[in-house]
Amino acid sequence: SVSAQWIKHSFQVMGTQAHVEFWFDEATSPENSAERLVKIIEVEMNRIDRAMSPYKPDSELSKVNRLASTQPVKITRELMALLQVSHNIAQLTEGAFDITYASIGYQYDYRKKQKPNQTAINDALDAINYQGIKLNTADSSVYFLHPQIKIDLGGIAKGYAVKQCIELLSKQGIKHALVSAGGDTGLLGDRRGRPWYVGIKHPRAEDKAAVHLPLTDEAISTSGDYERYFMEDGVRYHHIINPKTGDSARKVVSVSIIGQDSTYVDALSTAVFVKGLQQGLALINRLPEYEAIIIDNKQTLHASNGLQ
Ligand code: ADP
Ligand code: MG
Ligand code: MG
Repeated sequence: SVSAQWIKHSFQVMGTQAHVEFWFDEATSPENSAERLVKIIEVEMNRIDRAMSPYKPDSELSKVNRLASTQPVKITRELMALLQVSHNIAQLTEGAFDITYASIGYQYDYRKKQKPNQTAINDALDAINYQGIKLNTADSSVYFLHPQIKIDLGGIAKGYAVKQCIELLSKQGIKHALVSAGGDTGLLGDRRGRPWYVGIKHPRAEDKAAVHLPLTDEAISTSGDYERYFMEDGVRYHHIINPKTGDSARKVVSVSIIGQDSTYVDALSTAVFVKGLQQGLALINRLPEYEAIIIDNKQTLHASNGLQ
């Protein structure tokens, strides 16, 4: 009957395409409507975007970037929690994931094909160090120890938004759902008796999948050098920056991480992209909760031990 069906909806948010898909059964959710659940997801993603976007001058993140190098800035619990997770992941990845990459990151404009010159990079490199972010949980404030520090949550905020949305759907009684924002996907349950199949994009052929993975009740994030980039003199300048050099990371072309927590999975995919094949796989193989699929420069697929 029509009272139980798959609901699908796509919309634009956080500079990318978001997608939600869930099994809606009127009989088990009489107090809800599918439209209302879709609305809840859109509202939540837009709320997170308004708080964490670097492009919105009145976002909480923009306010922190304007003020935190001159005085401690009070922040919401939510931003504090995400800054703490970002700090943990920076430590775990030895600075491959570092939200202070932004003092250089903000000097790239991929649409206008603009990049900082080496002098500008050298100037900003001093400010790239997550340990320069002082979090004070006692009064919920953040303070930057270096005058040039800027932070950006582009490598973690979509995974976080996906996690929030999956939790909201679960609280509303939904048992089977997929929520994605760009390359970050969260899954609730299975696809009613079979797994979800999530495709990893082919890094050099548009609209083609390199592989499809059967997944249930977990999250997967893909970081690729093909999402936002421009070419100059045969070199690809793209949106994943090695915090140690200020240049785009070029050891691999695509990294997917699979695990329970889509916030961590998002940040880890960015970090492993920076670390490259050997160091990246070594890291993931030390972490039993996460698996990785890495596509190298020769477009060869590599998988972490747990996926073999
Ligand atoms: P996507 O934005 O497609 O989800 P990622 O999850 O890999 O891709 O995140 C890339 C984004 O992360 C960049 O657009 C930028 O905002 C941010 N970023 C780039 N380099 C780093 C880094 N070394 N550490 C933390 N964040 C980064
Ligand atoms: Mg990421
Ligand atoms: Mg991401």
